[in-house]
Amino acid sequence: MIIINHLQKKYGNMAVLKDVNATIQKGEIISVIGPSGTGKSTFLRCLNLLECPDGGEIIVCGQNLLAPETNVAELRMKMGMVFQSFNLFPHLTVLENITLAPRSLLKQSKADAEKHAHELLETVGLAHKANALPAELSGGQQQRIAIARTLAMSPEIILFDEPTSALDPTMVNEVLTVIRNLAKTGITMIIVTHEMRFAREVSSRIFYMDEGTIYEEGPARSLFENPKRAKTRAFIRHVGMQNFILEKSDFDLYHFQSDVDSFAEKQLLTPKQRKGLHLVLEELLMNVLFPHTDTVSLSIGISEETNATEIDVKDLPFTQNPMEFTDEAGEMARLILQKRCDKIKFKIVNSSRSELKMILF
Ligand code: ADP
Repeated sequence: MIIINHLQKKYGNMAVLKDVNATIQKGEIISVIGPSGTGKSTFLRCLNLLECPDGGEIIVCGQNLLAPETNVAELRMKMGMVFQSFNLFPHLTVLENITLAPRSLLKQSKADAEKHAHELLETVGLAHKANALPAELSGGQQQRIAIARTLAMSPEIILFDEPTSALDPTMVNEVLTVIRNLAKTGITMIIVTHEMRFAREVSSRIFYMDEGTIYEEGPARSLFENPKRAKTRAFIRHVGMQNFILEKSDFDLYHFQSDVDSFAEKQLLTPKQRKGLHLVLEELLMNVLFPHTDTVSLSIGISEETNATEIDVKDLPFTQNPMEFTDEAGEMARLILQKRCDKIKFKIVNSSRSELKMILF
């Protein structure tokens, strides 16, 4: 459906896309991941000519997008795009926003366009908002309307440019759910995203972008579990993990837990997993570790194999297993940790330092 050969794009003398090559089949769901600034968004914008490439070929449904004789407007209609910022017209109702393009570009009658819009609103779970203005909706709802508006043109391909990154964390899931449902309909989708767990779950293939190219690509599972190249491995390990260095003297539990929450959102932890993680961290820090050390260096990660949440505490300044401390104050906390963790592994690193790894249920 889409063939990309040697695509290049420069801004001034900065080559953002150096040599991008890809073939995308009908019905594929491709997630494009990678560090910021590696050209993911530029790549997407080149595909529907929001940016004009400096070289290479983009062939969509057999037609070369960059050939002078190609009817770009017609090809663009096959390709919808959903942006980070929803770009709804603020003075138009939801229904008017959705029916505008089908009526003006596809010459649909008002009745037909509205009938289709109502069906699409049903699909995105917002049938009751047809007459609302965008300002009356939450960010998550506006993005779902923006998706319905894109679908109203019946595109064959949808490009999503970080569709959840402008949203409050509590609204990310509702938008991902809509995209996940769309993925089941067989429409071809290319999604630039930072939501790694979502990418892994929904995509047929992942493109990892770096160095101005698709540095590595492959089926979601093999790319996440068994990345072949060094930069992909480093990126995947890094995004699945968050490190914290916590000082007892100015430790703010609520602030810390809200950082943990944004990590949990990104990793799509269930509310139950999130609650468990909060409880374990609170007991571990307040009642087991801080009474015995002033600094705790910990990382929270998600095991790709088992999907379990892991907590790794490094560089503990003692060699006794904290789960075997005998202070009365920590007794209840240790019991809670035992109950909430599948495994707790303690390791002595040298004569004064140790590490603790906890794998939650
Ligand atoms: P990503 O989506 O991977 O974060 P982008 O495609 O947004 O990366 O940007 C890649 C690089 O190109 C960045 O260094 C960015 O600053 C630069 N860039 C993007 N758009 C423009 C533009 N319109 N003009 C100049 N530089 C740009």
